[in-house]
Amino acid sequence: MMNIILLGPPGSGKGTQAALLSGKLNAPHISTGDILRRAAGTELGNRAAEYMNRGELVPDSVLIEMIRDRLLQADCAKAFILDGYPRTIPQADALADILRKLDRGLDLVLNIDVPDAELITRLSARRVCKCGATYHLTFNPPENEGVCDLCGKRLYHRDDDREESIRNRLSVYKKQTQPLIDYYGDRGVLVTVDGCGSIEQIAVEICAAVEA
Ligand code: AMP
Repeated sequence: MMNIILLGPPGSGKGTQAALLSGKLNAPHISTGDILRRAAGTELGNRAAEYMNRGELVPDSVLIEMIRDRLLQADCAKAFILDGYPRTIPQADALADILRKLDRGLDLVLNIDVPDAELITRLSARRVCKCGATYHLTFNPPENEGVCDLCGKRLYHRDDDREESIRNRLSVYKKQTQPLIDYYGDRGVLVTVDGCGSIEQIAVEICAAVEA
């Protein structure tokens, strides 16, 4: 049984590593950002988009309900990999409460550490697909320009991956999400990995932490 959280600033590679780990452990990859983006056009999606485009956090109440519903689904019964949740202390407290009621715990919180300057470079060159795949124009380009390797759909540049939103997201991360590093550190489940290497190097470090 493996219940894992990937923690780290936007652009740290959480999504990429969560997808790899999900394949390795055969555990569902739960990205709250992807769930919100896929809700585009619904009431939830429209409400969330206002916050997302500004680089702000969607209110805790919305996220807490969303993650509760998701974790109760059958595919999460044995393991899960959370990517982008929790992002605030109240979200972390709510998660602890949900897991307690299910008689489950958290096994590991992986904190991916990357300096700001590197994050800005990465995010502005990021291109994503509706299927959840992500690319970098220089370091991890798709085989055919502008097209997803996995599903063939057209890639797009997220509105919040533009300079002004990026800066806001980084400051929101520092204020609201970074305190979770101490929160999980105090609970003895935190492992920090250096997020500056290649995708493969970081995946190796993450696997070592999972197997430890
Ligand atoms: P991400 O794809 O993880 O970078 O998330 C994109 C955006 O979705 C964030 O900037 C937030 O606006 C929103 N979002 C995703 N997850 C959460 C969360 N746990 N709490 C609040 N907002 C979130």
